[in-house]
Amino acid sequence: MDPMPDPAPALPAPRDDLAGLEPYGAPQLDVPHLLNVNENPFPPSAALAADLGRAVSATAAQLHRYPDREFLALRRDLAAFLAEESGIEAPAPEQVWAANGSNEIMQQLFQAYGGPGRTALSFTPHYSMYPEYARDTFTGWVTAERGPAPDFALAPDAVTAAIAEHRPAIVLLTSPNNPTGTALSLDVVRAAATAQAAHRGLVVVDEAYGEFRRDGVPSALTLLPEHANLAVSRTMSKAFALAGARLGYLVADPAIVDTVRIVRLPYHLSAATQAVARTALAHRAELLGQVELLRSERDALAAHLAARGHEVAPSDANFILFRAFDDRHAVWERLLERGVLIREVGPAPWLRVSVGTPEDNAAFRDALDIADPALADPAPAGSRPASEKDSDR
Ligand code: PMP
Repeated sequence: MDPMPDPAPALPAPRDDLAGLEPYGAPQLDVPHLLNVNENPFPPSAALAADLGRAVSATAAQLHRYPDREFLALRRDLAAFLAEESGIEAPAPEQVWAANGSNEIMQQLFQAYGGPGRTALSFTPHYSMYPEYARDTFTGWVTAERGPAPDFALAPDAVTAAIAEHRPAIVLLTSPNNPTGTALSLDVVRAAATAQAAHRGLVVVDEAYGEFRRDGVPSALTLLPEHANLAVSRTMSKAFALAGARLGYLVADPAIVDTVRIVRLPYHLSAATQAVARTALAHRAELLGQVELLRSERDALAAHLAARGHEVAPSDANFILFRAFDDRHAVWERLLERGVLIREVGPAPWLRVSVGTPEDNAAFRDALDIADPALADPAPAGSRPASEKDSDR
């Protein structure tokens, strides 16, 4: 008799280190108040949407051709925006590079400067994608800790000590940091760039939320003329409310950009993406006006949370990390039941809420009163339920 056929078709074996892993991503749920992935809550105005439509239409007639592989016009527009935004001298277009989201920018930097036998260093709590850039490019991944709550600050000597210990090819700093909202002082970036220069290592400062920083907080862009081993990455996903278009970019020495150009896929930035990004940049006065509103909503929401008795991490971003009173998963679920989706991220029992429209923020405040009632008269620590004890911090 013939042997029984194998009921499962023989699937190819993936890389050993990928076995059993799930793709990264927060839940995409259809609820009224989406405050979980730090999106900008304002859709394009009718005038901007019409302009974006026209710009994409204009590319349609040429879609039989590959897009402009060097996209110097977009790089020039990005440079002009940065000069305005950060008070730096406009970088040369050869110092600017763009890709499909700052996720792809980071992946390209890891492809170019990481790799087998090399290590990348960052500081916890950090953006959850970072270890994936390392895994996907076969780069070793090490972390050191940020300072204690509620500031989660990073000190120059902590950074130089971690660099001395690991001698990483890449140091990944984030300012403002996700999920804590903490901006870095320039001393930290300077210390990292100087320590990295000793073994020809790279420093990347991820400024995905840079435009939301408070007045007087400088950008690492101002340090580019001093440090040839520094790359600063930005995105149009947040301040420009363009998460759906996928446009991230970096500024660095032209030699770094040239190295990234070696590993990029040809024609990675579609003609439609380039047209959309340039159109949004032309509308930046309107878009950055909304950043002002979000910054003031953030400060009001942080003050509200503090007044309720929460520990609140000072935020320079468009989100706030706060310490829940009750078990954070229970709070997260009770908020969701009321149509408010936030993020269970960072150290327990902290939760992260993105700053939404004034209506979103009001809905969050109302739902939180029920989901995580403030303790009017806190009981002594020993008599509190387990989820509220200090060991839970
Ligand atoms: N860096 C940080 C710190 C982020 O939080 C995010 C997105 N949430 C990104 C980078 C990636 O953003 P994008 O790919 O949309 O530019």
